[in-house]
Amino acid sequence: MTAHCPNRPSHSIFFLLIITFDIVICISAKTLTNPLQTAVLCKDQIPPHDIKKKIRTDPDSITEASNDYGNIVHKIPSAVFYPSSVKNIIKLIGYSNNCSGTPFSVAARGQGHSVRGQAMAYKGVVVDMASLSRNRSGVRVSWSPSSGFYADVGGEALWIDVLRDTLKHGVTPVSWTDYLYLTVGGTLSNAGISGQSFLHGPQISNVLQLDVITGKGELIKCSRKNESELFYAVLGGLGQFGIITRARIVLAKAPTRAKWVRLLYSNFSMYTKDQEKLISSKVPNYVEGLLITNETIPDSWRSSFNSSSNQAQITSLLRKHGLLYAIELVKYYDDHDVNTEFEMLLEEMNFIPGLNFSADVSYFDFLTRVPRLDVQNTPKSPTHPWLNLFVPKSRVLDFNAGVLVKLIPKINTELILFYPFNRDKWDKRMSAVTPDENIFYTLGLLHSSSPNEMKFYDEVNNEILQFCQKANIKIKQYLPHYKSREDWIKHYGSKWDSFQEMKAKFDPRLILSPGQRIFY
Ligand code: FAD
Repeated sequence: MTAHCPNRPSHSIFFLLIITFDIVICISAKTLTNPLQTAVLCKDQIPPHDIKKKIRTDPDSITEASNDYGNIVHKIPSAVFYPSSVKNIIKLIGYSNNCSGTPFSVAARGQGHSVRGQAMAYKGVVVDMASLSRNRSGVRVSWSPSSGFYADVGGEALWIDVLRDTLKHGVTPVSWTDYLYLTVGGTLSNAGISGQSFLHGPQISNVLQLDVITGKGELIKCSRKNESELFYAVLGGLGQFGIITRARIVLAKAPTRAKWVRLLYSNFSMYTKDQEKLISSKVPNYVEGLLITNETIPDSWRSSFNSSSNQAQITSLLRKHGLLYAIELVKYYDDHDVNTEFEMLLEEMNFIPGLNFSADVSYFDFLTRVPRLDVQNTPKSPTHPWLNLFVPKSRVLDFNAGVLVKLIPKINTELILFYPFNRDKWDKRMSAVTPDENIFYTLGLLHSSSPNEMKFYDEVNNEILQFCQKANIKIKQYLPHYKSREDWIKHYGSKWDSFQEMKAKFDPRLILSPGQRIFY
């Protein structure tokens, strides 16, 4: 038997250890002090030969898998698994199921862009989904009379690659996230929201079929018609029922250009009235909104156009109102000029006179407006104690008074998103939860703070949640994170019973995605 020690740091002394149960691993002097890293995954079972060599416990692998974009939670797994095929993952989960004692947990890790350890597996195995892509052929575009154009993509694929590959065929997915260096499996486990969701629904509404490896280690092809229980459970299912290894995504003809407009408001009622008019008109292709709390208007990572020409006016308005609101909207177009319907709609908007800005960019540049971010954290790297909420439309005025006006000025968060969705574009049968109203808003508090300040940001997050609870505003968390079972039950509300039932059916030994902390 040969042993390979990957990424061996030159300064550490290495030992080759042969464990009774036939796992050969490399342990540095540092890791010897940590018994978790001996990777005895299953006391009574030898790992199948072809997966054994894909299990790694070297410090670099362990460090990466116990880190995410949030840089808040750090759970150390026993090992990291680098599959080269779907079969490898099936075998790994089968191996866990065969343990006669407690099976080891398994978490798929897309890009680790979670902010609260959702893709981690304490004492379990983290599956590095990216390593699947090395042996896969990428995105396959097809057409059928019943489905039109669609793309088959790996669960590990990045949305940026899906965009690049589909554009080569003149087609494109219709529903996006703002940031494209996320995996298909990762966003479909949440919902995948952005400014196109009001029109096409979240990304989970634009899936035709999935290949899923359940917690029992079975590979199942599912869709609305076949194995529909699994299909609906997995979409927005926070990785609880299976690992998505392939998704069939709806495509449409790709536009070439995007007219991108930003409108500024000081009056919240006008702002939400105009946003709602835009999303009911269905004329724009994209509608989002953001809060402007200080003079540095966020031009950096979401918008590429600048409104500095009116900086003096904006500064004086900010002094007067303390807070401004911006709508961002986009109309896609091709060779001919943007349509007149869009121009007419803009004329009906009630923004502050003169505070409207526009840019004309390629479709590709618009979708890729947020550059790739680094997830390689050190203890001193910023933390991201984000809070993402869905707020029912009927209470947005109270929410504005109690949260946006009163609590948000306490924090220095550069990017705060606030924009609406049409609920009829969400499928209630899927696991994702929303408020129970036809229109609801999303608040994205995308905080970035030093590790020392993190506690303060979390206190403000808690104040917001407590305010909503006291005022009986029935918000739902997006990218949720809770500490108690009671909170999860409340989160899922009427869906909880079926969520539990699906868990018992597809992952009865509670193996998958422990980092969500729902069943642990
Ligand atoms: P991970 O963080 O690796 O995993 C997330 C969860 O899904 C984990 O529980 C994991 O076990 C599970 N999982 C991962 N892969 C699979 C799979 N193949 N099958 C089953 N389960 C799986 N979200 C939006 O909706 N809209 C946005 O505009 C948006 N912008 C973002 C911008 C940034 C900078 C960041 C950091 C995040 C953003 N997100 C956004 C949130 C993003 O959707 C989540 O972080 C999501 O988890 C995707 O990240 P990931 O692919 O790295 O998944």
